[in-house]
Amino acid sequence: MPTMTPDDTAATGRRPAAPADLSTQAVLEVDLDAVVANYRLLAARLGDRTVCAPAVKADAYGLGMAHVAPALYAAGARLFFVAHLAEGLALRALLPEAEIAVLNGLVGPEVADIHAAGLTPVLNDMGAIALWRAEGHGRPAFVHIDTGMNRLGLDPDAAKALIERPDLLDGIALRGWMSHMACADTPGHPLNVQQLSLFHLLLRNLPQAPGSLANSSSIFLGAPYHFEIARPGCALYGINPTPAAANPMRAAVRLLAPVLQVRTVSHAGTVGYGATARVEPGQRLATISIGYADGFLRCLGNGVSLALDGRPVPVVGRVSMDLVTVDVSDLPEGSVVPGASRVEVLGETVTVDTLAAAAGTIGYEILTALGSRFRRDYHSSEFPECASSRRSAAPS
Ligand SMILES: *Cc1c(COP(=O)(O)O)cnc(C)c1O
Repeated sequence: MPTMTPDDTAATGRRPAAPADLSTQAVLEVDLDAVVANYRLLAARLGDRTVCAPAVKADAYGLGMAHVAPALYAAGARLFFVAHLAEGLALRALLPEAEIAVLNGLVGPEVADIHAAGLTPVLNDMGAIALWRAEGHGRPAFVHIDTGMNRLGLDPDAAKALIERPDLLDGIALRGWMSHMACADTPGHPLNVQQLSLFHLLLRNLPQAPGSLANSSSIFLGAPYHFEIARPGCALYGINPTPAAANPMRAAVRLLAPVLQVRTVSHAGTVGYGATARVEPGQRLATISIGYADGFLRCLGNGVSLALDGRPVPVVGRVSMDLVTVDVSDLPEGSVVPGASRVEVLGETVTVDTLAAAAGTIGYEILTALGSRFRRDYHSSEFPECASSRRSAAPS
């Protein structure tokens, strides 16, 4: 096929594809080396006695499980946690050899799929335990005990019933006892110690199996919380697991939105829907290609500062579905160029935790809300095969 030169445009009426840099699409850069470094930092904190088992649910917190999970596997992770059966099936297609535990439990109809894909269910109630006894063919399962969240898992009374009737577990290969911490990001919270002592008490009396209590933040509460298996999620992806202290993790995502238009305000007026922000003559505004449909939450209007060439550029006016306006008056005139300048919406300067605080939410929600309209660029110097874009396609 002949290559198209600019001259062909006139002849064919078609325009050659714009270079990627000139696209109006925002770019989400995922740094797999950072994810791997975060995994290693957590594994080192946990030490040799504790398995570091990444939580890759919700598409690896929005970063892209198809790239993140193989990179973690290459770095040595062998046990993974997902929330849903469908996530487990997708992960199995990526990692034929990994052990994959499905947090959201076992209801019944999915048993055949679980067997076919060799997944490990997490049993959250006595009904699921009975079901796995009957239909689990002696395959492994975790049992989740609720020690204080009142969310998911056997309540402590049911756990005590199991202490009296361990035969109710006959035929199940117990992979581990797990529980989940409610307040691990608040080291002084009294519930932390309460959950820990209840979990200890139960483990001492239940049939012997590995214990698993710690999410990311719990890893930083100290060795007593580590047990045999830890299940970090957020810290792998760069969210600060120790909100009261400096972030020990490396930022793993960078979101860059191209500038579409720059204007110098000529008459006093307002910006955006609802005319919520006043602007004065001489003020310079840049409109960037991102909006609430991309997960840039609408409540971030008129508040948060983004970054351009390392300088703060405050959001002016409301966030639209596809567009955001920022004030670039403080940058040198002519330095902001439509089609060439890109505003950092998320990254080293505007961290996921900064954006979350400005939106009145947590980093988890910022990452899992990231949209699907970005161009996604994966980088890995150590495991380049995990960054290759073939992985975005359906697993082969
Ligand atoms: C999501 C989840 C985790 C991971 O938690 P982080 O706070 O992201 O580290 C661990 N365990 C369970 C049960 C979860 O639902």
